[in-house]
Amino acid sequence: MIDVVEPATAEVMASVPEAGVEETDAAVAAAKAAFPAWRAIAPGDRAKLLHHLADALVEKQEELAVLEARNAGKPIGDARGEMGMVADTFRYYAGAVERLLGDTIPVAGGMDFTFREPLGVVALIVPWNFPLTIASWKMGPALAAGNTLVLKPAELTPLTALRFAEIAREAGIPEGVVNVVAGPGRVCGQRLVEHPDVAKVAFTGSTEVGRRIAEGAAATIKRVTLELGGKSANVVFADADLAAAARAAPLAVFGNAGQDCCARSRILVERGAMDDFMAEMERAVREVRVGDPLDESTQMGPLISADQLETVSSFVPADAPVAIRGDAPDGPGFWFPPTVLAPVSNDDRAAREEIFGPVAAVIPFDSEDDAIRLANDTIYGLSGSIWTQNGARALRVARAIETGVISINSNTSVRVATPFGGFKQSGVGRELGPHALEHYTEVKNVYYATEG
Ligand code: NAP
Ligand code: MG
Repeated sequence: MIDVVEPATAEVMASVPEAGVEETDAAVAAAKAAFPAWRAIAPGDRAKLLHHLADALVEKQEELAVLEARNAGKPIGDARGEMGMVADTFRYYAGAVERLLGDTIPVAGGMDFTFREPLGVVALIVPWNFPLTIASWKMGPALAAGNTLVLKPAELTPLTALRFAEIAREAGIPEGVVNVVAGPGRVCGQRLVEHPDVAKVAFTGSTEVGRRIAEGAAATIKRVTLELGGKSANVVFADADLAAAARAAPLAVFGNAGQDCCARSRILVERGAMDDFMAEMERAVREVRVGDPLDESTQMGPLISADQLETVSSFVPADAPVAIRGDAPDGPGFWFPPTVLAPVSNDDRAAREEIFGPVAAVIPFDSEDDAIRLANDTIYGLSGSIWTQNGARALRVARAIETGVISINSNTSVRVATPFGGFKQSGVGRELGPHALEHYTEVKNVYYATEG
């Protein structure tokens, strides 16, 4: 059994059967058996089924939100928003089923056209920070394109994935199309990566495990998409609306207790604006409400586990340059207060490694070129922000920063309709938007001779 721990109390909230290799193989076999019928469903009918699923998810939004908030330790308000996004993601991709268009290409002696074929059985391996949300970004395009799937949630947060499988069946998704295996990554995850009947692995998690998955997938030339870590820069120029930038900066790091691959955990501030920025940000950090995930007013919950608490703590040793420290509850649960380190050098460990906790590093810079150099001086390239009222500068810097997603005068990264993914060691491929479908289909070219 897997004992599922509630991070806000450190107590077991549920026990679920633990899957192993046998269960993983059975799930792949079920997905393989369901594939021919699922891909053969008329596009309009498959779209309807995905709309039914979206409707069912809207109906179950509160139940799923409470489950996710408790299991992942995230504020209920955030969890509701995330479950809304899960439903929206299926609705968006329901619209894609009938829009998987091909090309017609002029050639000699006949006609040439392309199809977007499903891959077959796809394996989806997801982390604990946004459990069902990240799963939906993969399941939506996978199902729309006619694939069947095996989803492996993180061992720490399997509950919404298991509930999702039931909801999908009730909504009319045929048996075997959606399969969930809740078990350890090194057992079930690894088996999926090795399994000869799995055509593709879509993974979100650490860069270290992502690298192993890419290596393992090479043996059978599986398609692989990876969403990995980040160390994103929030670049604040002195000509920005400083108050707006400083007030928005804390939750861009401390949201989900910093356990967000898009966290803008390096705050790059133009030197002349440092004092004003820090003063305003201090007020905002002190206002962040840390506490019980089920309290409506909570903005930040605990970390996911005792291990995560230990890792995050290691980035704030006794001699760390702590400039601002917010509050966190005492007592049981894996709590860590919002913490701002300043000034930090971009060479310091807190600026180089993904902390995945509520710790921000403020790094001063001297010029536009300096800001770009610092922002790019990282192995990662996932998200980021630019704050300036100079439009030309905003666009110059947006093009110069090596990152998959960047916002100007905003800290948002993820929308259902727009592509999301990383440059450099932040990953391979794109999720969401129209682009995700490319990663769940193969292009087939057909030539039909029409002469002689
Ligand atoms: P992780 O180990 O990369 O886990 C992600 C998923 O991969 C989980 O479902 C995990 O299963 C599975 N997995 C683990 N080892 C595997 C293997 N050998 N083969 C196949 N699948 C495997 O991430 P984590 O340990 O939860 O977190 C560690 C660090 O990763 C964090 O501190 C953070 O820096 C980063 N992270 C990034 C993201 C992101 O969104 N980019 C998300 C989470 C974590 P089990 O958990 O069941 O073992
Ligand atoms: Mg791990």
